[in-house]
Amino acid sequence: MQLTDIGTIKDLFARHGFSFTKSLGQNFLINPSVCPKIAEQGGCNDTVCALEIGTGIGVLTKELALRTKKTVAVEIDRGLEPILAETLSELSNVEIVFGDIMELDLKALFEEKFKGEEVVVCANLPYYITSPVIMRLLEERLPIKSITVMVQREAADRICAKVGSRESGAVTVAVNYYSTPKKLFNVSRGSFAPSPNVDSAVIRLDIAEEKKYNVEDEKLFFRIVRAAFSQRRKQMINPLSAELKIPKQQLSEIFLSIGIKATARAEELLMEDFVALCNTVRNI
Ligand code: SAM
Repeated sequence: MQLTDIGTIKDLFARHGFSFTKSLGQNFLINPSVCPKIAEQGGCNDTVCALEIGTGIGVLTKELALRTKKTVAVEIDRGLEPILAETLSELSNVEIVFGDIMELDLKALFEEKFKGEEVVVCANLPYYITSPVIMRLLEERLPIKSITVMVQREAADRICAKVGSRESGAVTVAVNYYSTPKKLFNVSRGSFAPSPNVDSAVIRLDIAEEKKYNVEDEKLFFRIVRAAFSQRRKQMINPLSAELKIPKQQLSEIFLSIGIKATARAEELLMEDFVALCNTVRNI
């Protein structure tokens, strides 16, 4: 069954009484070259397991299952159950878990489904939950090798920007804290049905095996990063002074002691600068 063929999709929908739910971001891939590329560049092979988030009718699920030891896929929409039972019927190494990825106990899911296996995450998610899902997977420090995910093109450029460049943002720093991000390839809006009104790109985050930075207080680190970028193009001393309740004069002395200009903007700082700022603030 060719799951990227629009005639096949219409036939499945008609027979199972299914229709797209826009609020669940159901834009399904119909470009046949995209899913094999996600699976291959996402590190799928017969030594790893895959976690997919958001199966749709199983177009990516199938490519993951064909290449991995085992694929577990989380899908929120139970209405897809009979369709998936049909489209994945020939694959014995796939398991679908129906639930909301933001609500599930992921540590328990990994323990139960993967038991110490190496896991890659691959997903074509609704855009409105892409960042929260990525951050959840990173922050919980799950035993994941990499996360390969379709995101809006602008989000891809932001996430994969160089920390310290004009394109960088709080998410760039957050992602670089846990992983090494890489933009893999662009995907045009015409590759989906229904077609969204933005273009997309696939990125991969290679998760660091060891802690990359010596941050003494992660909570404080992310508070500083968020506040610093809250007024991106302006001097970060004002929002930081308000967030940390440290007078501007004292904060500018802290900046100078670690080699940051008092007039610096967040987009000018490197990872090491954010780390030094966090550790110094923590110790005053
Ligand atoms: N992987 C399929 C493809 O590429 O054609 C479907 C992609 S579609 C952009 C996103 C999928 O994520 C939909 O099937 C939708 O029902 C599912 N989804 C939306 N919110 C979700 C959530 N919170 N947890 C799990 N799945 C979700």
